[in-house]
Amino acid sequence: MVSSPLIKSTMKVGILGGGQLGRMLLQAGANYPVETFVMENDPNCPSAHLCHHFVTGNIQDFDAVYNFGKNLDALTIEIEAVNADALEKLESEGVKVIPNSSAIKTIKNKILQKQFYSHHQVPSPAFVVTENLQQLKQQAAFLPAVHKVAMGGYDGRGVQLLRTVADLEKGFDAPSVLEKMVTIKKEIALMVAMSDKGETTIYPSAEMLFDPVLNLLDFQISPAQIEQKTLWKAEALALKVVKELKSPGIFAVEMFVDQNNEVWVNETAPRVHNSGHHTIEANYSSQFDMLWRIILSYPLGNTEPILNSAIVNVLGAENFSGKAIYKGLEDVLKIDNVFVHMYGKKETKPGRKMGHVTILSNERQELIHQAMKIKSLLSVVSEAD
Ligand code: ADP
Repeated sequence: MVSSPLIKSTMKVGILGGGQLGRMLLQAGANYPVETFVMENDPNCPSAHLCHHFVTGNIQDFDAVYNFGKNLDALTIEIEAVNADALEKLESEGVKVIPNSSAIKTIKNKILQKQFYSHHQVPSPAFVVTENLQQLKQQAAFLPAVHKVAMGGYDGRGVQLLRTVADLEKGFDAPSVLEKMVTIKKEIALMVAMSDKGETTIYPSAEMLFDPVLNLLDFQISPAQIEQKTLWKAEALALKVVKELKSPGIFAVEMFVDQNNEVWVNETAPRVHNSGHHTIEANYSSQFDMLWRIILSYPLGNTEPILNSAIVNVLGAENFSGKAIYKGLEDVLKIDNVFVHMYGKKETKPGRKMGHVTILSNERQELIHQAMKIKSLLSVVSEAD
């Protein structure tokens, strides 16, 4: 049956990857007429029990992705490390793929991603490509720099800060980019949504604060505390990146603001992202709601904030591995304007993302105060170690 734009039958939509991003996407999808499918290797992953149909399969395998997608109306991803060739074939056969396979191919390989920025004159730290450790060792003059493996790195894994010649040993013996080290004043992210008609909308900025030990995002505040002019620059850049990618979807553009208030694009994620989790409670249309609107061809949602917000990532505590136990949850739940999201991961590991907590308040000091308090109250440990 051919459906008119106004009368839609329930679409069958697949998600590649079954982690917490898929889980929160499914939670938002429960509000829409959609039949959901998830493919992922682990049948106990956070998304497995929230979708209508779960398929155990390898999202990097051509046949697995193709067979999963061929009877669906649309497909999306919650991680870039998917088989984009299979997605390209599915696209050619009429399956709607959001973000499109070309955007995924550009982004999933950091070398291609950096070349995309330079080709489109998007300011991003200067870089050279290194194919192996031997080539890296010839780049002493490029230091201080940051070495980033081209494929498969995430959450700080696959990134090495190289300050001295001795540090070159820590680099990757695989195709990588070596990027000039920026003196970072702030790390910010902007989420941009683009519909299949090319309309765009942008969320308020978020500012990240990092754990220097785990090199993993620790907490973030929205909006970022930056000058209006810097925000305008960042917004223009984020929109440019998404328009040049020429793909519908939701995108997180991560940027650095340096000492001179210059804005540099670090990287882009073509999907829902950690830097947009606060939008579940803090904005009229969350990043997850927005992605469904795009996939299902509904109007874009309202990105305005209801209140300012912070999120605290809940990471598995150091020295604990095994069946997860949540310490301090009751105390956290006693605080007003605080929203707890646990991702349903049975096993904890040091530094593993186990959940997040959102705090709402228009007072920045209050957000910081509550974020610190929650960090001290809440921990994820294991039964015995
Ligand atoms: P991942 O995709 O694993 O999150 P990123 O590229 O975002 O990796 O890098 C992780 C962190 O390393 C960044 O958030 C930033 O703090 C630091 N970093 C990355 N690139 C640079 C750079 N060019 N200069 C300075 N610090 C950087």
